[in-house]
Amino acid sequence: MSGSIDVERLAARLEELARIGAIEGTHGCSRLAATDEDRAARDLVVDWMRALELEVTVDAIGNVFGTRAGRTDGPPVVTGSHVDTVARGGRYDGNLGVVAGLEVLEAWNATGVTTERPVAVGVFTNEEGVRFQPDMMGSGVHQGFFELADCLAARDADGLTLGDELARIGYAGDAEPFTPHAYVELHIEQGPVLEEAGVTIGAVTSVQGISWTELLLDGQANHAGTTPMRLRRDAGLVAAEIAAGARRIALEVGADQVATVGVMELVPGAVNVIPGSARLTVDLRNTDDGALREAEERLLELARDLAEGEGVALTERSLVRLSPVSFDPGTIDLVERAARALGHDVLRMPSGAGHDAQMFAPNCPTAMIFVPSRDGISHDPSEFTEPKELRAGVDVLHDVLRELAG
Ligand SMILES: [Zn+2]
Repeated sequence: MSGSIDVERLAARLEELARIGAIEGTHGCSRLAATDEDRAARDLVVDWMRALELEVTVDAIGNVFGTRAGRTDGPPVVTGSHVDTVARGGRYDGNLGVVAGLEVLEAWNATGVTTERPVAVGVFTNEEGVRFQPDMMGSGVHQGFFELADCLAARDADGLTLGDELARIGYAGDAEPFTPHAYVELHIEQGPVLEEAGVTIGAVTSVQGISWTELLLDGQANHAGTTPMRLRRDAGLVAAEIAAGARRIALEVGADQVATVGVMELVPGAVNVIPGSARLTVDLRNTDDGALREAEERLLELARDLAEGEGVALTERSLVRLSPVSFDPGTIDLVERAARALGHDVLRMPSGAGHDAQMFAPNCPTAMIFVPSRDGISHDPSEFTEPKELRAGVDVLHDVLRELAG
């Protein structure tokens, strides 16, 4: 059915994209949202879309859609992903979903396939959230999760707004948002689960909820030699105990719960001074919202108790809170059936990372297809997926889109 899929053409497109913002001596690239590099990558994708005779539109948050007409009008089946990367990114994250969508439509053009419904390949603005926060901005605005005005006003570290930067690179459009008939995204797993299981295709069932909290601790800096232990108000000690507690809480909540303290800064940070203040971040994730809330509550309770016991003031600030998202059972089944029919092993699995697909899930039938990441590595130039695994992923995407488009 997908005989015209050409994995070498797909790999060549990934290669061509990876040359834009290439990081010398690696296979990776650096292409933050709404930079000159992002513009060049978008221009290249738009050239490919035009060569495939797709109708190209750009909306107000800079999302690009290339749409192939169906026999009937009506909402398209949408696939796609993003072409922005983290500062030292790989060539597969996001880019694969975009070029795979184009590859399917190119195969259909070559063999004269027509579909009932239109099919669109989307390129979503600022999925990574490195230069502008929050992440998944383009898909989030498109599906009504974020306010357009807030996102256009988001500023980077130099004070430039996303709105101005999109206008500067020529991607501030006026196409209307819409609700797709269905949404399917092919993406690298960005974790070790498929490789470890020896399975080629992941049928993604859900995306973990994410909770990021910043904790500020304010105690009393003092001499490390002259201050008796009983008189200390050590913000560093409390920070360390919170970090140890986060691990314990994750293990006690169990199942999929994970907890990470990724930032811990002690002030003044000197060998002979008791830390007077500390800043730490806690990243909690779970596919179950109730369990995630339990972990959040227990962590804050622990932090308050520890701070009070040491006479340290505590300030909490929520940085990000995204509830877990479940994909559509029928569309997950479709992914699994298509993969098995092609002779691939399939693992049903949650996604540990956020993806554009989660913004579509509340509004239309949505699912994702994962292919393995070597050594589970992503967000790094060494990101790699075997050509035969790329082939498997795009074949599954092909058959799923064919079914959804009718
Ligand atoms: Zn991605």
